[in-house]
Formats: sequence, structure tokens, C-alpha cells
Amino acid sequence: MIKKIDHIGIAVKSLDEALPFYTDILQLPLLGIEEVKSEGIKVAFLKAGETKLELLEPQNDESAVAKFIEKRGEGLHHVALGVDSIQARIDDMKMHGIRMIQDEPKIGAGGAHVAFMHPKSTGSVLYELCEKKGMK
Ligand code: ZN
Repeated sequence: MIKKIDHIGIAVKSLDEALPFYTDILQLPLLGIEEVKSEGIKVAFLKAGETKLELLEPQNDESAVAKFIEKRGEGLHHVALGVDSIQARIDDMKMHGIRMIQDEPKIGAGGAHVAFMHPKSTGSVLYELCEKKGMK
């Protein structure tokens, strides 16, 4: 049911400061930068072969990413699993007793449909289910 690791999310304080490591030293192509207003974040996607890295920069103190950085510092934030039929996958997870942060998918970066599992249910890893509907 999981197609691949779609992307890995990394929390950063500043995209401007973080990006040169990825683009200049690792030489990963920058696919785009986008503001996700509903989450209070700006994200940059970098292509790393079959998968992507998603750098997350908080735009205000209320954003969940700002709170994450405040508590744990910058670094690994979430792993996004690419799926089809995301609502059915969410229902599967709940049937197996996994707590979901979203019971219904919300629209994330790039218009993807996403839902997060609660880390308390997954051994402290924040997993995102991610369905791309007819996009890159
Ligand atoms: Zn993500």
C-alpha cells in the first residue's frame, strides 16, 4: 500500500541559510519554494533521486514547525509515505488503532492530499501519508 518514500521533511529556521548546503554542496536541484499559508510555513522541495527533501521554514510563532524547532531544534521533522486512495489508508490506520492527527486529508504543499499519524502511535516518528493527484 505504500508506494515509496515521497519525501523527508526537515525543519529549518531559515531557508536562505539552509538552502546553500543542499543546492551548492549536495547539488540537489531545487524544485520550487512555496508558502503553505494554512500551516504558517514556507517549504522548499529538493529532488534527491526518486524522492525529495522538503525544508520547512516557519512563518510565525504559532506554526507547528516553529513549536517543533523551539522544543527540539532544527532537523528531521517527518517522513512522507506516498499512497493512493489516502482516505482508505487513513481508515485502515485507524482500524489498526493508529491515532491520526487528521481524520480527513488536508491540502499540503504542491496541492498534495496529506494526513499525519500521531507520533505516539508510531514509535515517535511523525509519518505523513501523501497522495499526489495528477501532479509531478
Ligand atoms: Zn511533508
